[in-house]
Amino acid sequence: MTQLMKYVCETCGSDNVSTEAYVDWDTSKQAWILDELVCEGIDWCSDCSEDTTLDYVPVTDLRTIAEYTIAKEKANDAARTNPSG
Ligand SMILES: [Zn+2]
Repeated sequence: MTQLMKYVCETCGSDNVSTEAYVDWDTSKQAWILDELVCEGIDWCSDCSEDTTLDYVPVTDLRTIAEYTIAKEKANDAARTNPSG
């Protein structure tokens, strides 16, 4: 199984975090598409409501791993029943 990873707040350990990135507008998808992360950008923790530094750590929470696995299975099932996607 793939080792799931997450970014967490260095201060409180929460994964309720954000970082700065450039996004490109895509008219056909009607959405902003991630281009790249801003080098030396500001990282933010919504739980601390402060700038923070992020740690990149393995996910050990079984519920999160289960939710990821179920979502992936559903996506695979959808791809099988609707190959044109
Ligand atoms: Zn925090």
